[in-house]
Amino acid sequence: MNNFNFYNPTRIVFGQGQIAELTNLVPEDARVLVLFGGQSARKNGTLDEVLMALNGRHVEEFGGIEANPSYSTLMRAVEQIRQHELNYLLAVGGGSVIDGTKFVAAAVQCEGDAWQEILVNHATNIDKALPFGSVLTLPATGSEMNANSVITRYETHEKLAFSSPLVYPTFSILDPTKAYTLPPRQLANGVVDAFTHIMEQYLTYPVNAAVQDRFAEGLLQTLIEIGPSLLETPDDYDLQANFMWTATLALNGLIGAGVPQDWATHMIGHEITALHGLDHAQTLAILLPSVLHEQRTKKSDKLLQYAQRVWGLEDGSDDDRINLAITKTRDFFERMGVKTHLTDYQISADAIPAMVQQLEQHGLTQLGEHNDIDLEKSQHIIQASL
Ligand code: NAP
Ligand code: FE
Repeated sequence: MNNFNFYNPTRIVFGQGQIAELTNLVPEDARVLVLFGGQSARKNGTLDEVLMALNGRHVEEFGGIEANPSYSTLMRAVEQIRQHELNYLLAVGGGSVIDGTKFVAAAVQCEGDAWQEILVNHATNIDKALPFGSVLTLPATGSEMNANSVITRYETHEKLAFSSPLVYPTFSILDPTKAYTLPPRQLANGVVDAFTHIMEQYLTYPVNAAVQDRFAEGLLQTLIEIGPSLLETPDDYDLQANFMWTATLALNGLIGAGVPQDWATHMIGHEITALHGLDHAQTLAILLPSVLHEQRTKKSDKLLQYAQRVWGLEDGSDDDRINLAITKTRDFFERMGVKTHLTDYQISADAIPAMVQQLEQHGLTQLGEHNDIDLEKSQHIIQASL
């Protein structure tokens, strides 16, 4: 196992009815900005429940954070916070609202150009951020218990990520009943995103991290077991509870401690979302099978372990089992209703040069656990995803 330094300060408050706990979790004298997305949190009553629990505090609202949260929208929240001297943030939503809140928390305290300092310079010069909590409504990203955030600048077609220990949520409330209203597309996206997060940390090369491997395999198997049933009955409490906790554990640092990590699928995927507007998880379902194929030689030990332990494949040559494990991965995404080819979204080969150019522009020229996915390999991967 590699050396690691694991830190995660986020308190998780889990279960039905836990939104009422906000009254104890948010300081009484806080001046709060509640950030949310389009209409879902208002329509399904989550926002009302939150506002009721915050009763007695100075509370303002900031709605309209879009999926793939936009820099210019978030800068309007920064303005509201500064103008009204607010000092505590509460994100109510999925990954986009939580990621957006992380950016806002850092941007409020940033004196320079927030895009440059936080996203281009990876927050290296940021030394403080506003405290914030979250109420999760969409299991998928793990943003509720990690320090990552991905922000989009639509004018320049850029989608960039940053990570800083300053933006761990202080707490996150995970009430599985708040995810009952998710439409099939978002549920499926959530399953695919969480699945890919696990694969990015598991499917590399062995370092004798037996316990991380078993955690990862257990989480993958849980998603395979419950994913299709969730689509049928999204209001089944136990299914939703297991899904929510799995998605959080997939990217809270636990399974990634002391192991090599890939992340090529995510990095290439961000460029496709920035250029073509696909959902985050749609890009992952397209790219992951191709990344596994392209890197199959260097990943062969883990691919064989994955084939056996996750998919129960025992027969055939090594090559056969690897092929079948990748095919089963693709089939699982398709069974969840997420397409796995670029052409399913009317994106053809002539779109590839622009994607490669964006990767180059963002310095993403050495991806993967061996830093060996250069622009040529990325191009192969995208080509193989058509
Ligand atoms: P999302 O973009 O937060 O939400 C997608 C849609 O789901 C929104 O339109 C939202 O509608 C709706 N929605 C949310 N909760 C709902 C509910 N309970 N009922 C009905 N509809 C609901 O989706 P996400 O997959 O969680 O986040 C994706 C973003 O996270 C991407 O930008 C991705 O790059 C990023 N990401 C972050 C990390 C990380 O570690 N931080 C990891 C992976 C991906 P409303 O707007 O109407 O609420
Ligand atoms: Fe993701």
